[in-house]
Amino acid sequence: MLKHVVVVGSSLAGVRACGGLRAQGFDGAITLIGAEPHTPYDRPPLSKKVLSGEWEPDRIALVRPEELEKLHLQLRLGVAAAALSLADKAVTLRDDSVVSYDALVLATGAATRRLPNQLEHESIFELRTLDDSLALRARIAAGNLRVTIIGAGFIGLEVAATARMLGNEVVVLEGAPAPLMRGLGAEMGLAVTQLHTDNGVPVRCGVQVQGIEHNGTELVVRLSGGESVASDVIVVGIGVTPVTDWLSGSSLVLRDGIVCDATLNAGAPGVYAAGDIARWPNPQFDGEEMRVEHWTNASEQGLIVAKNIIATSRGEQPDEYSAVPFFWSEQYGTRLQFLGRAAGDDDVRIVKGSVADRSFLALYGSHGKLRGALGVAMPKPVMQCRRFLLDKLSFADAIEASAAL
Ligand code: NAP
Repeated sequence: MLKHVVVVGSSLAGVRACGGLRAQGFDGAITLIGAEPHTPYDRPPLSKKVLSGEWEPDRIALVRPEELEKLHLQLRLGVAAAALSLADKAVTLRDDSVVSYDALVLATGAATRRLPNQLEHESIFELRTLDDSLALRARIAAGNLRVTIIGAGFIGLEVAATARMLGNEVVVLEGAPAPLMRGLGAEMGLAVTQLHTDNGVPVRCGVQVQGIEHNGTELVVRLSGGESVASDVIVVGIGVTPVTDWLSGSSLVLRDGIVCDATLNAGAPGVYAAGDIARWPNPQFDGEEMRVEHWTNASEQGLIVAKNIIATSRGEQPDEYSAVPFFWSEQYGTRLQFLGRAAGDDDVRIVKGSVADRSFLALYGSHGKLRGALGVAMPKPVMQCRRFLLDKLSFADAIEASAAL
């Protein structure tokens, strides 16, 4: 009998799961557990409009206060989960309290990676939480600082753009040969660099950071080869790791995330994973195993697991999560959107616009199949490519069809 669903993780995936359960008619108890003290908020603006000061935190609530009330959640915020016992169907929290469940959603997301022996200093920041964003904003808001960003991923590039627009002198240091390599591949990653150089922000790729020091007067980033980059503020944006340490004593299979089946079931009856921590075989990509760290994925997976918890409790078949991954970013007012999945060796064709115009649509293909589509300042055409991906067009047919966009 499904009476109590426990959702661990109070960010997007967890909150969508709670909303999804109520939307499915579930009127039992839902406990939402979150490590952060804040009521659930949306993260994308943290590196953009909240960081720039255009928005205050009340603009980014994931659920408006009156809607949150209507969900009738038992909120356990500000206390992280510490352990899971599948045998007892219970989650133990850091304060030693124990919460039993009939069904469980694992949505603990990801935590920032740090440099080895990373110096602790009030002007060295990471950016994952609302508190991180507000602290960095307070430091860079007045401009005229030398801001060094380590890592040219989404955080690095979005923070670079925002810090630059606030009037700071910004440089980005990236270890890989191009920014956004994992998301976009090298060629298009380098194309995105142009947006930054146009705005006076050098993106230095292929540089190895050896460490950060304070020399008595200022912070310096030491690079291999002997060079150092003097800085007033340093932002470390070198990726994230899924928060699964608290699950290590459970018998769930952990491999850079929680290994799930295509329905997002985590390997035990009634236990599902959603968001950054879920690794699942995506039927849309012929069962290719994926773990996706983007907003749309967390939102959709939260809803699917809610649906599947209700379905299985009624003895019905759960749905598979079959999806075309999607992400967007905004840098200097230019919107980047990507649909699909890039791999390092994809064939990339610009089918509309040009890098020189800072506005283009590029298609990604591999082994004759369409794998993805990138739009830079091309919002409509790129979203129309979703249909090509859903229909599993060949790369050649997609290139031909894109002429009509
Ligand atoms: P990310 O997108 O994974 O990028 C991290 C970058 O730092 C990668 O290019 C990585 O290269 C590089 N790097 C790693 N170690 C380095 C080192 N020692 N020195 C210099 N560069 C290094 O991660 P993120 O930018 O930190 O973002 C964190 C999370 O937030 C991600 O899940 C991201 O998807 C999400 N996010 C998404 C958006 C969006 O969708 N618009 C916006 C903000 C944040 P390697 O890959 O070679 O390690």
